Formats: sequence, C-alpha cells, structure tokens
Amino acid sequence: MTTHPPLFLYIFALIAFFTGTQVSALDCNAVRAKYHCPAQKHKLHLSFDDGVGSVTPKILDILKREKIKATFLILGNKIDCKKYKAGSKSLALCKQRLNTLKRIKREGHDIGSHSYEHYHHSKLNPAQLRNTIVRSKILLAAYFTTEPAIFRLPYGDGWFNQKKAPQVMKALKKEGFEHLGWEMTAYDWNEKYQHGDLILDNVMKQMCGGKGRNGVVLFHDGVFENEHEGRIFTANNLARWIPQMRCAADFVPLSYFKKRQFHFKH
Ligand SMILES: [Zn+2]
Repeated sequence: MTTHPPLFLYIFALIAFFTGTQVSALDCNAVRAKYHCPAQKHKLHLSFDDGVGSVTPKILDILKREKIKATFLILGNKIDCKKYKAGSKSLALCKQRLNTLKRIKREGHDIGSHSYEHYHHSKLNPAQLRNTIVRSKILLAAYFTTEPAIFRLPYGDGWFNQKKAPQVMKALKKEGFEHLGWEMTAYDWNEKYQHGDLILDNVMKQMCGGKGRNGVVLFHDGVFENEHEGRIFTANNLARWIPQMRCAADFVPLSYFKKRQFHFKH
C-alpha cells in the first residue's frame, strides 16, 4: 500500500498556492476605485529634491528596476567636497554623494540645481541671491542634462510668489537657468504624512481628484538640514507606491512635458 497522499491533494495544494499568490498581487481596479481614478491613465513624472542623500542609491535602484526616468534637483552644498578637511569622515561621505551624482547622470535621469543653500530666496539681498545661484551653477555644470539648465527654487519661494518677488526669477534667467515647478506634491518631507500610505494618498488624490492632473510630482531624496541623511521613509516605501501609482498613471520622462522649455542633451 502506498504512503503517498492522493493526487487530488497535490492539485489542491497547487491551486491554493496560486490563489494565494493572486490575492497578494496588486489589484489595480481596487486601487483606481479607492482614489476615484479613471480607466484612462494619467501621465506622471517623478522629481526628487534636496539630495544627494544617503538613500539616493536606493531610489536609483528602484527607478532602474521600474524603468522610470526621474529628475533630481541637487543642493550644491551636498556635493561641494572642497569644503571638507582631507581625511575627514565628512569628505568621504561627500565623495560618496559625488559618485551617486555621477550615477544619476549615467542612468539617464535629468539633473537640475536646487541652489547652493536651501534659503528662502525671496528674502536674500541681490549679492546673496546671485551667490547661491552661481555657486550651484559652477558645482553642477558638468552634470546638467538640459539647455537651459534646470533650477528649482527651495520651497518654490520666488516661483509661486514671482509677482511679489520678481527679482528671484530674473536672477535665475540671468544665470542661464529655467525654473522647473511641480503640478503635484507628495508632502513626503512632512512627518505627519510619514505613516502607512499617507504620502501615496497625497499623490493619488491630487492626480485623480477633481478634474485630474498630469505633470511633475515633487518627492524628496535628501534632507536639506542634514549633510548626508536622506528621506528614509520615502526610499523605504517608494517600491511599494510605484506599482500603485502605475495603476492610474504612466511614468514619463521630463521631456514629455517640457519639450518646449528645454533641449534635452541625452
Ligand atoms: Zn528643497
């Protein structure tokens, strides 16, 4: 007499395995229903501010796996390695960030300036304003991917309030920059959203709510107050959020939206 279980038990186990797999797979209909997204997909471009940060390589790994081209707005002071002492830990970390910046470029993402210091630019005097813009331009010159080069103002200050503070956008133009704003924001810098999927909710609600939106969405890979740290919560969850965003949106390169403003060199 055989000691093997009957064949139907094997079949039952196989069915259970595959059914279980399907339950854990992403249900895009449910995602679209949750956020009231239409069947027709939106167009979305990911952008990351305040880097280069410690988590930028992790974000690059995710983007590579997902075949997404993003835009990175770099803070000049994060890659200004000359300011550190030879042999210091800070210098070693700065060199790591510089290597990551090279990787961003190599992997075909767009690169722009987020100024040298993360100041409120509308509050600077003319010399300070020029100084922070020009310093970032010199440091990032070899990495810019567009003509004119991309610039995104810290806090959007000088962009959203350009009627009140026209000198900021004028100074950018004078240094050969073109500003890149955003249509949607993840608010991932705000600790109150760094729980569960609240950051994903922010994006999905802006994209699918009302008449719906297409465009550039603002995330962060760096922390501007910190020399090296990155937006850890964003980096840890992005791999889970991207497939859900993809249920309602196609990821497009920046050139999809900005062909008229910029000549893309890659
Ligand atoms: Zn910023």
